[in-house]
Amino acid sequence: MSLFDVMMNAGTKVPTTEAERDELVITEVSTGYWTYHLSRRRNIMRGLCGAPTLPTAMPLSAWGAPGDESLPKHKHPAYCEKCARIAWPEGKPDTPG
Ligand SMILES: [Zn+2]
Repeated sequence: MSLFDVMMNAGTKVPTTEAERDELVITEVSTGYWTYHLSRRRNIMRGLCGAPTLPTAMPLSAWGAPGDESLPKHKHPAYCEKCARIAWPEGKPDTPG
């Protein structure tokens, strides 16, 4: 599967401008537990922290949201602190953008 197909399957629009390529997106990795990372749209297969990632269709505003109480514990989301610190050195802004 090509990178283009992966992005389309995740409902992610293909970046066309420099600003879009630099845009932060939420990516994920599964090693049994779901962990979310942050990536630049230009390189969604790798998190800011260097972890290999997969694209998601999650809006950036969903970062940090707790998991659904009804979900089993291993499906609760974890958010990469390294990525957050790289993306927002002074803390995540309340209203991104
Ligand atoms: Zn990370």
